Amino acid sequence: MIKTTLRALRDLFFPRNCLVCGCPLGAAEDSLCIPCAAGLPFTHLWKLPHNPLSDRLNARIEAPGEHYAYAAALLIYKSGSPYNKIPQALKYSYDRTAGRRFARLLGLRLREAAHFADVDLVVPVPLHWTRKFRRGYNQAEVIARAVAGALGASCDPRALRRRRRTKTQTRLSVEEKARNVASAFRAAPPRPGVRHILLIDDVLTTGATLTASFLALRSVYPLPVRISVATLSAVL
Ligand SMILES: [Zn+2]
Repeated sequence: MIKTTLRALRDLFFPRNCLVCGCPLGAAEDSLCIPCAAGLPFTHLWKLPHNPLSDRLNARIEAPGEHYAYAAALLIYKSGSPYNKIPQALKYSYDRTAGRRFARLLGLRLREAAHFADVDLVVPVPLHWTRKFRRGYNQAEVIARAVAGALGASCDPRALRRRRRTKTQTRLSVEEKARNVASAFRAAPPRPGVRHILLIDDVLTTGATLTASFLALRSVYPLPVRISVATLSAVL
């Protein structure tokens, strides 16, 4: 009762809007209005150990003897979709609250899947420190922390670091992107006892960045340590 009153007061003085359609939110709504929440474009790919997203990633990894990497995303990222505002808010609008909320949702979905349930270390794809300094945080780390919390796993944002600053990826072709990120990452010495690492980024497009991060982690965590991938959204 007190909580409801406080929320109503908060909304009176600090009106909140739906992240997707912009309409004012009611006291019981968080980040999204009820219709937008009902229309969330879930991928449901976390239910399938083999899916088109993980196929795409595995085709890129191409390391001899490597076992099939599991991959999943919470939401579909489709050109022009208003739901793209969910990852964009974390990346461009500095809204970490909504980002954490959806990341936790991703973590809870992964926990339901047997092939993700044994993850013991969550690692975010790093930003170069100059970019992190400008934004104030790494969006992949915000997601990784919330996912780790939901999975009951550790989170290690220092497991990978960027060796050099890569160019902004937006205007590059697929081949240029791959060259841009190859060998851009270096892994820290491995933690003992790790069996299943979950690599986290905000959006999966070509998979070039995640592949480069995957291979850097693999260089210090040899098989049979499993490395999987999860993102907030993905281009399918
Ligand atoms: Zn809405």
